[in-house]
Amino acid sequence: MPLKFDTKRKNKVNEYLKNPIFKIISETADSLGVKAFVIGGFVRDCILNRSDKDIDIVVLGSGIDLAKAVAKNIKNKPQVTVFKRFGTASLKFRDADIEFVGARKESYSPDSRKPIVENGTLEDDQNRRDFTINAMAISLNKETYGQLTDPFGGLKDIENKLIRTPLDPDITFSDDPLRMMRAVRFSTQLGFEIANETFDSLKKNKDRLKIVSKERIADELNKIILSPVPSMGFLLLDKAGFLEIIFPELLNLKGVEELAGQFHKDNFYHTLKVLDNIAPKTDNLWLRWAAILHDIGKPATKKFIDGIWTFHAHEFVGSKMVTQIFRNMKLPMNEKMKYVEKLVRLHLRPIALVSEEVSDSALRRLLFDAGDETEDLMTLCEADITSKNEEKVKRFLENFRIVRQKLKEVEEKDKVRNWQPPITGDLIISTFNMNPNKDIGIIKDAVKDAILDGIIENTYQAAFELMLREAEKLGYKQIDKNGK
Ligand code: ATP
Ligand code: MG
Repeated sequence: MPLKFDTKRKNKVNEYLKNPIFKIISETADSLGVKAFVIGGFVRDCILNRSDKDIDIVVLGSGIDLAKAVAKNIKNKPQVTVFKRFGTASLKFRDADIEFVGARKESYSPDSRKPIVENGTLEDDQNRRDFTINAMAISLNKETYGQLTDPFGGLKDIENKLIRTPLDPDITFSDDPLRMMRAVRFSTQLGFEIANETFDSLKKNKDRLKIVSKERIADELNKIILSPVPSMGFLLLDKAGFLEIIFPELLNLKGVEELAGQFHKDNFYHTLKVLDNIAPKTDNLWLRWAAILHDIGKPATKKFIDGIWTFHAHEFVGSKMVTQIFRNMKLPMNEKMKYVEKLVRLHLRPIALVSEEVSDSALRRLLFDAGDETEDLMTLCEADITSKNEEKVKRFLENFRIVRQKLKEVEEKDKVRNWQPPITGDLIISTFNMNPNKDIGIIKDAVKDAILDGIIENTYQAAFELMLREAEKLGYKQIDKNGK
């Protein structure tokens, strides 16, 4: 199909093609007598005027040979990383990762995402791509430099903001079901619609997701979560029937029950609203995850008591569920998970600080418990306001603004964030020559609480004296210097 760029888009693409690497590839390919194209995501992103640091080059010939020859023609002779098994090679040029691969034809068997690969034509290579917008190629050889090959109307689909498979979607998705997650992801990232036929096929083939590794699914899910309006992706995942396979806990939040004329809110849609609310405030993936999981304990704690719906202790139950969910989804089981757990556990605490006569002690306690996560916790609480009543939203936000201000003042005064109480377990053990037991925790907490509550001064001396008194209550006496 001949190239039909409008001038505006053409200028943009030409801007991106000004990267000197393309001239080097062009001359090198010509000297080797092979045809080379820039293809896929990079082409899509140039047309959309998004920057993309991954550049994929397809060669009608050996990708590895072209990569090595290109490296020789670059001044600083970058290192070429060769993946012999895949017939690919990559190198870094400035901040771009450039991957070279021979054009290929793929055929799939039903039980695997891994295709049998043979050498192919440019057309074969474009046929194996997932979406029309990802299948465009721009020629780099001198004679045809800058010409677009767009066999499936990717350019038009970009104009129409449409995600569509190049071939029969049932085949494209059944061959490699990861593409189904990618469909939802691109739709959410770019704000594009999924074409009807393509969407029907997502529904039809949903069970094929089961052969995709959880890590890959999590990668795509994280990209959805980091999109500008992440709810769009979750609504599609729900509509396509994917959530029941990849994230059943979230689906459990869905629905409204009625008893004696009392309804509770639909916590699924509420959660999506919280996620959308937090998106413009932060690109921290894990804070966005905390928004997704903040009410995850609600179904397990739901009760109808004295004519009202309650979700008592859902923050603790939810926080406990985080580990299991992270493990199931193969999300990192490290400090990121601990961070999400902590925010879920604490997400109701700032609400208790809204009243006018809130004590410094309560503020100090939150600072102590939330530590470095205090600001993120406040951001989560603000996003958690999903009332449709604008007046209410304004009032609640103003309340939290005051809480933030009070927290700041108390922190400046008392510095309890990341504060370590002066009395440690070791000190208690050595002072009273006792064996480790639960009394140590009781004494430690009593001292910590007294300082946070402002009952004693935050000094070592005051803390030590209180430790002696608290220990005495439990029957312990300080030993003398001779250990008696
Ligand atoms: P992003 O870089 O944002 O993840 P992308 O489209 O560039 O998006 P890559 O994984 O970088 O995705 O892949 C580059 C290109 O390779 C795609 O544009 C597409 O043409 C092709 N591609 C990648 N994954 C698949 C797949 N699972 N099935 C078919 N084609 C794919
Ligand atoms: Mg890419």
